[in-house]
Amino acid sequence: MIPHNKPTLGIEEEQAALRVIRSGWVAQGREVEAFENEFCEFIGLPAGYAVAVANGTSALFMALWALQARGKRVAFPVYTCSSLRHAVAMIGAIEQLVDVSPGTPNIDLQALSQCGSDIAIVPHMFGLPVCLSNLKDIEIVEDCAQALGASVNGTAVGLQGKIGIFSFYATKVITSGGQGGMVISKDKALIDTIRDYREFDYRQDQNKRFNFQMTDLQAAIGRAQLRKLPILLSKRVEIFKRYIQAGLKLLDTTSEFNISISPIRYRAIFTTNNFCNTNIIDFLESMGVKAIIPIEQWELLGEYNLFPNALKLAQESISLPIYPLLTDEELEYIVSKLNILL
Ligand SMILES: *Cc1c(COP(=O)(O)O)cnc(C)c1O
Repeated sequence: MIPHNKPTLGIEEEQAALRVIRSGWVAQGREVEAFENEFCEFIGLPAGYAVAVANGTSALFMALWALQARGKRVAFPVYTCSSLRHAVAMIGAIEQLVDVSPGTPNIDLQALSQCGSDIAIVPHMFGLPVCLSNLKDIEIVEDCAQALGASVNGTAVGLQGKIGIFSFYATKVITSGGQGGMVISKDKALIDTIRDYREFDYRQDQNKRFNFQMTDLQAAIGRAQLRKLPILLSKRVEIFKRYIQAGLKLLDTTSEFNISISPIRYRAIFTTNNFCNTNIIDFLESMGVKAIIPIEQWELLGEYNLFPNALKLAQESISLPIYPLLTDEELEYIVSKLNILL
C-alpha cells in the first residue's frame, strides 16, 4: 500500500538525535534555543522572536493566553483541525464558528468580519495562505500548522497577524520527531509573555501553568528538518504539478490573477463534484493507494447544515499522497489509477 503521508526522516535526523543523546542533555536547552533562532531567520524575524513548544495545540493555547482570550469571543472556521476548538475551550473563551468561503478550504473573511469577535484564529489550510490585510478591529492568530514556507505579498505566513503558530507533528511539512510546535510574533511583549509562561517550574509567583516545553531531542531533529525545508517544499511542488499535468483539478486558491499569494503544496486535494468521495477512496484503496478525506463531515466543528460550504468540501474532497519520499514509480502508478477515473 502506498501510504497517504510519510515524514522525510534520514541520516541527518539520526545524527542530530545521536548528538543530543550523547551530550547527556535531552530536556529543553541549547538545541531548543538554536531551533527557535534558526526558525526566526527562516521566517524573517530577529533572533528571540520565536518560542518552541510541545505541539501546535499548546502553541494555540499560549497564543490565546498571551492575548488574554479568557471570556472573549474567538472566531475560527468549522472546517479545520479539532485542536482549535480544544485550545479555545481550555482557555475559557467563547467560540464563534464561521464557514469557509465557497470553493476554498479557508475561512470566509466577510462572514468573519461580520461576526463581531474579539479574536480570530485563521488557519491557512492545506498550504493555501489567506491574505489578512483587509481585516480590521480584530486580533488575529494565524494558524500556520499546514503552511510553513507560504507567504502573502512577500511576507511569511505567521507575520500578518498578532501571533503565528506552527506544528511539527509527524505528518506536517517538517517534524521535530513526531510532535512539536512554535509560536512567533513581531510583538516582543507578546513573545516575552509566552516565553515566561513556558518556564513553569521554579517560579516564586506560584501562577498556574501547563508544562508545554519542547525537548532538545525534538529541537535537534527539527533543526535538521528546517535545513531540508527548501528541498522538501520543491519536491511537493513537483508532485503537485504532475497531478495537474495528469488532468486533475486540484484545490487551489492561487491563479495568474492573484500573484500576491504564494502557497506551499502541503496537500493535493481533488474534488469530485458528485458527493461520493468515499467510492473513489475505496477504489484507490483496492488498487493499493491510500487516499483520505482530509476533513470528514463528522469532523466539522459545528452543526454542518449551518455551514454549507464546509459541508460540500467535506463531501467532495479527496486528499492524494504528496510527500517528498513518494517515488516517481509510485507517483506514476497513482496517476495511472486516477486516469481510470478521469
Ligand atoms: C496539526 C494542526 C494543528 C495542531 O497541531 P498539533 O501539533 O497536532 O497539536 C492545528 N491547526 C492545524 C490547522 C493543524 O493542521
